[in-house]
Amino acid sequence: MSQKYDLIAAEEAYGKFLSALGFDWKNDPHMEDTPHRVAKAWVNDLAKGCFMDEPKITAFTNNGQYDGMVCQTNIPVVSMCAHHNLPFFGYGHLAYLPDPEGKVIGLSKLNRVVDYFSRRPQVQENLTMEIHKFLDDLCKGNLGVAVMVEANHTCCSMRGIKQNSTMRTAKMSGAFRDPVNNSRNEFYKFVEFAQGSRSLV
Ligand code: ZN
Repeated sequence: MSQKYDLIAAEEAYGKFLSALGFDWKNDPHMEDTPHRVAKAWVNDLAKGCFMDEPKITAFTNNGQYDGMVCQTNIPVVSMCAHHNLPFFGYGHLAYLPDPEGKVIGLSKLNRVVDYFSRRPQVQENLTMEIHKFLDDLCKGNLGVAVMVEANHTCCSMRGIKQNSTMRTAKMSGAFRDPVNNSRNEFYKFVEFAQGSRSLV
């Protein structure tokens, strides 16, 4: 369900916010349109996932009865920390094991899912779980879904402790949770490869 917004009210509120902090923004040529720009950026980009419908994703019959891992790595994550409303950004790595008799989905759709759940006030743990649940529901009969998100949080690097660091979160199900099955290792190998080749993408 997409939520409603009032762009004008958001602009006015941001203008008041700047005024409350003592900025003479109306008389500064660089700031006079800032409330408008900020409100627009929230609606069109930063929180756009809240204002759009869930991505409609078609699942295809797994004609070739593919039973290997489907993995999409280095998917950009651009999000806003729900606690501080500061950006955090990094990469998402997704994989699933299709049911040979079930469905597979288009790869770019995985990017869409990450974008949809990222572009809103978020908490990285929840982002990871939400992507996982969406994929798990979508790939009916899957034998496992793996999601890993790695991101740098500017609420950590720019304020408070002011140190750069990377947060990694992962949610696994099915064969990816099985201590005997090799899928989890295979997934992490793929992620490692993706991390190493990042300058190439
Ligand atoms: Zn934060």
